[in-house]
Amino acid sequence: MNFHKIFAQQPETEASAPGRVNLLGEHTDYNDGFVLPTAIPQKTTVQLAFSSDGKHHFYSENLDEIVSILGTNHTPSGFASYIFGCIQVLQQKGYTIPPLNLYVKSLVPIGSGLSSSAALEVSTLKAMRQLLNLPINDVEIAQLAQQAEIHYAGVQCGIMDQMASSLADTEHMLFLDTRTLEQRVLSLPSDAEIVVIDSGAPRSLASSGYNQRRAECEEAARLLGVKALRDISDASAVQDLPELLKRRARHVVTENNRVLEVLQGVSSQRFGELMNASHASLRDDYEVSVPALDTLVDILQKTPGVLGARLTGAGFGGACVALVSGQGKASAYANQALTAYNQSGYTGKILVPETFAK
Ligand code: ADP
Ligand code: MG
Repeated sequence: MNFHKIFAQQPETEASAPGRVNLLGEHTDYNDGFVLPTAIPQKTTVQLAFSSDGKHHFYSENLDEIVSILGTNHTPSGFASYIFGCIQVLQQKGYTIPPLNLYVKSLVPIGSGLSSSAALEVSTLKAMRQLLNLPINDVEIAQLAQQAEIHYAGVQCGIMDQMASSLADTEHMLFLDTRTLEQRVLSLPSDAEIVVIDSGAPRSLASSGYNQRRAECEEAARLLGVKALRDISDASAVQDLPELLKRRARHVVTENNRVLEVLQGVSSQRFGELMNASHASLRDDYEVSVPALDTLVDILQKTPGVLGARLTGAGFGGACVALVSGQGKASAYANQALTAYNQSGYTGKILVPETFAK
């Protein structure tokens, strides 16, 4: 399939945006803390041209689905809601968006926690910026994308995914202060590559566990007399909390400190050690790991050449991220770890590098 076959015209412009994986800083965002995502190699690409029948037409190659929209009174459902949301937030900023033909195709795994939704929004907004010469920068693109997802797709998301998709690439990671929105684009650990493997474990407890952790963090912050756990930088300050809250707070405080250590500049080896420490903290203090994730992380950490590995995302299932040393060897490491993982009775799947992604 291609643009011409769907719309009987050539596209005027196109823009791409990648998915993302969080390297460090887990369960810190709702504590006003720090995160460190990077872009994955897989991208979403949006092509655009003006539509001549007064309607917007959105086509997804991944879904082989077309949605046509006349006017702006009615928010569509499904994938079109993300694109419609992008048009709406631009119009609310005062820009006039003419009827468009939009074609989207993506290699970002959809619904696997690598943020295909942010990649869709950011590539859509960047393509519109290009077509219509809109004076908006990449940070504003991320903010508009977040607004589109919250208000039109109905997903209460933070700003990390959109910032990473808009600002980072596969050679860089994004430091983000979720309280002040200060961001810094940093080089990835040198002479190293990223591997992401889906554990195949269903994230059945994810939302109840997530809400419970949020409540525990709020309670810990209240007992400590601070606005958020981000305001505590010394882990010994949580010592007098009740046992459970102490462990929850200790994870958040030490995790924030791990991200801040990276800001000071660390070797690739040290970065890997921080990822390992992050996993131990998520497993023991925060208790959001499950046996499948622990097994996969353990296999990755024991694979020679792997500098560090941890669960990524909220936990209770989902994926693991690893940092591997060297260049051009990520596929081999990923394949080796996946084989061992699957021999343990699980069914995992390589998400990054993309040669193995579906
Ligand atoms: P994630 O962002 O982790 O991939 P989400 O549930 O947040 O998972 O977003 C997935 C949704 O985004 C899909 O259900 C679909 O509506 C939309 N989406 C993302 N990429 C595409 C695409 N290329 N084509 C159609 N829809 C897409
Ligand atoms: Mg998403």
